[in-house]
Amino acid sequence: MPCDYGSRHPNTIQHLTAEEQDNLGFDMGKTIYVRRIALGDSPDAIKVRDVVQAAHNDRTYQRICSAVKKGSPPKGIPAPFSKVYGELCVTDNILLKGDKIVMPDAEFFPGSGNIRRHVIDTAHDGHPGISSMKRRLRSRVWFPGMDQEITATVEGCLPCQVSTPKIQRDPLVPSTPPEEPWQNLGPTIGAQLQMGNISWLSLTCSPNTLKSQ
Ligand SMILES: [Zn+2]
Repeated sequence: MPCDYGSRHPNTIQHLTAEEQDNLGFDMGKTIYVRRIALGDSPDAIKVRDVVQAAHNDRTYQRICSAVKKGSPPKGIPAPFSKVYGELCVTDNILLKGDKIVMPDAEFFPGSGNIRRHVIDTAHDGHPGISSMKRRLRSRVWFPGMDQEITATVEGCLPCQVSTPKIQRDPLVPSTPPEEPWQNLGPTIGAQLQMGNISWLSLTCSPNTLKSQ
């Protein structure tokens, strides 16, 4: 089978500065990893250096990275991570789950707010709706409870709710109580019964009617 020449002979990125490499989403090593979280064309897209900084500020994340790098068993690792421990690897101090970046649970600079929140807010730009947000984020990042946070964000957003079509149900309208016995009579649907040569019609009346007899 012919192999893909391009994938085995990637263009070098040596002509780019470190800043340019980071902005384009390449690492500085020989192996090229596209690690940029380019959430559309948003100017607020998260950069690799932001993830690295947030990772540095998240002690649990550091502990998991260290365990994965050493190949230690997932003893003492929080459950959401221990469940996917076999899928985790580390590159440049960033934890990956398969080909998705595991987002740290910390700020990436003082006052920036949690980077997970920032990722969700960025994907929420333009109010794309819950399905689109989940699809967009699931293809790039992972962290425990991500789906629930996306759902809560959309459910708490008025523009998203207004633009989301919902199944409309007619309101329940109670019937008016009868004023005298046998006022309301009607056959039960499909209640015409037959047994041998005898046939009869089943009738219903409201509980109020029976009570007033
Ligand atoms: Zn919204």
